[in-house]
Amino acid sequence: MPDGFEIPPRCQNPACNLPIPIQRGHRRRQYCDDTCKQAAYRARRREAELDRYEIQQREELQQQIAAWRARWGDLVPETLQLLATLSAGMAARVAAAIRAEVARAVRSQSEERTTLVETILFGGEQVNHPAILTENVSLAPGLDAWVAFCSYADLAELLQLRDQVYIVCTARARRGALARHT
Ligand SMILES: [Zn+2]
Repeated sequence: MPDGFEIPPRCQNPACNLPIPIQRGHRRRQYCDDTCKQAAYRARRREAELDRYEIQQREELQQQIAAWRARWGDLVPETLQLLATLSAGMAARVAAAIRAEVARAVRSQSEERTTLVETILFGGEQVNHPAILTENVSLAPGLDAWVAFCSYADLAELLQLRDQVYIVCTARARRGALARHT
């Protein structure tokens, strides 16, 4: 590159960042002048300060959330934050109400499971608990295998098995109907 076409360096003061004219025969400068040099130094110091502050805030939040959980139970941070804006008495009552709602949801999920297992085992009985093989369900024949499967299957597997039981029972019933009429 010929002389005079060199890209000039930019001032390292982030608030300035202007190109610094290149003076032939002089060392390349990093700053326009001492004012920019001072400003850049202050900016770096400020950044380091902010970094320390952010880390300190993380530690404080960690402790704050632990303290809130000890007081109000295992709720999500956003809920804890909201409770913290209420008076102590109101926060305690709202937290208790939320915990009761959570418990009710857990209970209804376990009731749903119980009902599902009853439906599956009742249906299975109608067709003598056959082997069930699908993409996601692999079930050996017999009541014991069915009971065992139902005890460890997750909700999604139980829902699939319920569909299979419906299909097997319905097909069996249709077979019976056809047999009676032909
Ligand atoms: Zn500058």
